[in-house]
Amino acid sequence: MERLLALIAIAPILFWLIAALVFGVIGYRLGGQKEAAWEGFFYGLLFGPVGVVFAGLLDRRNGCPECGERFNGRPNRCGACGTKFQWNGNTAVFSAPENN
Ligand SMILES: [Zn+2]
Repeated sequence: MERLLALIAIAPILFWLIAALVFGVIGYRLGGQKEAAWEGFFYGLLFGPVGVVFAGLLDRRNGCPECGERFNGRPNRCGACGTKFQWNGNTAVFSAPENN
């Protein structure tokens, strides 16, 4: 009987923990689509459904220095405007000096 009462007492805590983890995983998946997986995970973990919404709005992808188009990974050329660039750490820099 006491074990049953103890189980009933911890059930909400277990439920909360599992729900937090589930929302964390959802946030991880949503954030991961835009290179913000762990940030999305913690949003989901800490804020539940609201955090998942914010995780979906995250975007940590690199952007084209010319037109601002975001892309996954580190391409050497922008798919939108065709500008070529190199990578200096996490920052895209023009591969050739601008001749305007
Ligand atoms: Zn571009």
